[in-house]
Amino acid sequence: MVCPKCGSQNVNIQVVSSVHLVDKHKGCLWWCIVGWWWVPIKWLVFTVPALFAKIFIPKKQRTKNKERKVCVCQQCGKQWNL
Ligand SMILES: [Zn+2]
Repeated sequence: MVCPKCGSQNVNIQVVSSVHLVDKHKGCLWWCIVGWWWVPIKWLVFTVPALFAKIFIPKKQRTKNKERKVCVCQQCGKQWNL
């Protein structure tokens, strides 16, 4: 492995796990029109059954961690994805 910035071969490969957030940021208008009633309903419809399911069905656990490999140059500190 050669660093693309300085050409050094002193490069470490690290496995980085990152948690992905699925929720996108909603705008102000969305909150005025939809958010104030949709979020509690969504919470009731999806989160409460999900909580009950989590209590009564303890084996199903899903993580959204995603592993990726990152190269780190020990010479100049540049990081890039593998
Ligand atoms: Zn470098």
